[in-house]
Amino acid sequence: MTTYTARPIAPDVLEELRVTDDAGRPCAAYTAEEGGEPLRCCLRPARPGERVALVSYAPLRRWAAATGAAPGAYDEQGPVFIHAGAGECAGPQAGAEGYPFARPGALRTVRRYDAAGRIVGGRLLEIPQAAGEGFDRAFAEAFADPEVALVHVRAVEYGCFHFEVRRP
Ligand SMILES: [Zn+2]
Repeated sequence: MTTYTARPIAPDVLEELRVTDDAGRPCAAYTAEEGGEPLRCCLRPARPGERVALVSYAPLRRWAAATGAAPGAYDEQGPVFIHAGAGECAGPQAGAEGYPFARPGALRTVRRYDAAGRIVGGRLLEIPQAAGEGFDRAFAEAFADPEVALVHVRAVEYGCFHFEVRRP
């Protein structure tokens, strides 16, 4: 169990992304040959033979649409892997241990947003051996600022969105 909840892409959003992604492109499915694609719908790597797609996703825009926030220029979109069909997509496993994609040594940004959707800082996180504790510390530090409403965890090298954590 983790102190904070890593939120996957919501099922209703996935349904839309499987038709047209947040960049307006049609979803192009393919079969994961070797697997390992980090799936943002189930927060686990793809298994060989699963049907997946790389789509553009705008997490802040999606969140803002639900909350009425107006992130303006802070809105951005980027590539994420998802299951191409709902059939293989059961969402994150209940009771999964630790945070997803938490390989020690990997570099992440933990970017903070306020309730209006503006960036209010962030930090670099090199995932330590005790990965869960490292993430917990980074999230606790972010939410110690009362302005912070949510954080996005992203890979440093590709800039791709991993998951969202909201103020508990
Ligand atoms: Zn999935």
